[in-house]
Formats: sequence, structure tokens, C-alpha cells
Amino acid sequence: MITGIVIKNMNGYFYVQDEEGTVHECKVRGRLKKGRYSLLVGDRVTISNDGFIESIHERHNSMIRPAVANIDQVVLVVAAHEPDINELLLNKMLVMIEHADIPIILCVNKCDLMDASTMSLVDLYRSIGYDVIMTSTYAMTGIDELRRVLDHKITAFAGPSGVGKSSLLNAVDSKFTFQTGEVSDKIKRGRHTTRHASLFSLNTDSFIMDTPGFSAIEFNDVSLERLPTLFPEFAEYVEDCKFNPCYHEHEPICGIKEALASGQIHKGRYDAYMSIRNDIENQRKRF
Ligand code: GDP
Repeated sequence: MITGIVIKNMNGYFYVQDEEGTVHECKVRGRLKKGRYSLLVGDRVTISNDGFIESIHERHNSMIRPAVANIDQVVLVVAAHEPDINELLLNKMLVMIEHADIPIILCVNKCDLMDASTMSLVDLYRSIGYDVIMTSTYAMTGIDELRRVLDHKITAFAGPSGVGKSSLLNAVDSKFTFQTGEVSDKIKRGRHTTRHASLFSLNTDSFIMDTPGFSAIEFNDVSLERLPTLFPEFAEYVEDCKFNPCYHEHEPICGIKEALASGQIHKGRYDAYMSIRNDIENQRKRF
């Protein structure tokens, strides 16, 4: 019996990389198909010598879109400039990943183009408690730090198009040859390759997930009560709210609004909170 990790699912076969780095083409035992859940990329499995997956080890998390299990962390990439950081989009993505309860590392790439306003955003996210790595694939800065972060983990890269995700992966390991640059070229390529998530092996126990659709933001299953808890810096101020639950909007004596007024909570973060709240309410009205 061999243990390994499912790195790809294609044409009815599952590709399992074992601890030595060998990839096995496997089928699933019939009885597993009837099990509680179907096999996902990222699953740790035991396989028989004749190439059948015999058992699925317990997962520590899983996502539906993309369908993947056991993600250890998300590296959320933005660019210092070109494209400028879209704060609302960034905050929405942070909230979505917080909701999935997956550790987040913020990577600010293109730091060769860094300016004061982007630097103040870096300071903001660090003050909230996020780990921020600054990289440049042009100046090759921060790449060693990024490599260290990826060690022994399954990492999903996420972030808007054009920020340098493919360039970063190519810089991390010369065996990667992701296409960079023109978005239109990538869409052509993407049509064939991004239907299923798959894992790229960095070494025997470090993997990177390509992230089809990972920038899709859905808050369907976030409750209005849970939403404020997905903003880590709100925690210390909600204790001063008079009402419980408090939605931090029209209620009198609200710790969050007081912290906003005194500048302890950043306005962009509060605005993102209100915007997501509206998204959730609008979605509910539709159903
Ligand atoms: P992706 O869409 O996020 O995968 O982004 P790409 O890796 O394709 O990069 C988009 C563009 O940004 C390309 O033209 C790259 O040459 C450029 N780029 C990538 N990294 C850097 C960097 O560190 N600094 C600068 N100035 N440009 C970069």
C-alpha cells in the first residue's frame, strides 16, 4: 500500500503523487464511489499496488468551487501598481477566504512600482494582523521569502488577472512555465486547462493549486451575524456595542462606528463591510 496526494483528476483517472514524488495513474474502488463524499484534488489517499484508490484520509477542509480539499493557505496576490489595488475587491476576497477559514498571506507584487499610497495599504493590512510579503519578479525581491512560505504546504494562489501570479510561480521554481502577459492569450489557453483544479508539485510535500474560478466571490452562505467576525480588527470593538447582535449600521452605542469615527477602523474596511452586507441582503431578496 502507498499513500499519496491526488494532484489531478482527468478522464476518469486520478493522478496520485506519492511521498517519493512518483505519480501513479489510479482508478477508484467501486465501494468508495458510493461513499459520503467524492474524491477531490488535494485528498490524501492510500492506493494499492495495482493502481486502485483504497481509502481517503480525513480532510481538514474542502471547497466546492473550485472542488479541492486540504488547502493549507491562500496566497492572495495584488500588484503595487498596474493594476492598482482595488480595495473593495481585495477586502471582499479577504472576507471570502476568512469565511472558508483558510490562513491568508497577502502578497504585494510589482513592488518595483511601489508608491506611498500602496505602502500605507501594506501598513494597514499588517496592522490588522495579516502577513504581507512584498515581491517583484523584475527585481527578484521577496522570492526567497515566498518560497519559504510555500514549503510543506498546499497553497492556492488567488488574485486579479495581471498582478503577476504566473510570473511569481515561474520565479519560485524554474520548472514552471506558466504563460504570462496578455490576458487574451491566457483565456484561450484556460479554456482547455482550467475545468478541474489541479496541483503542481513544487517538491514532494509542497503543492500549488491553479485556481480556476477562485476569484469568483460568493457570499450566499455568509450570515449577517457572521459577517462582522470575518473582519479580524472588528473583534476588540464589538464588545462596546450595546446591542447583540449589532449590525453596526443604525444602532446607537456601537463600538465599531465609534472606532470608525476615531480612525481606529479604516473607512475602506467599514465600507467593504457595508457593501458585502448589501450584497447579502440583495441576494436574499432575489430568492
Ligand atoms: P497574472 O495574470 O496574475 O498571472 O499575471 P502575469 O504573471 O501574467 O503578469 C502580468 C504582467 O505583469 C506581465 O506583463 C508581467 O511581465 C508583469 N509583471 C509580473 N511581475 C512583475 C513585477 O514584479 N513588476 C512589474 N513591474 N511587472 C511585473
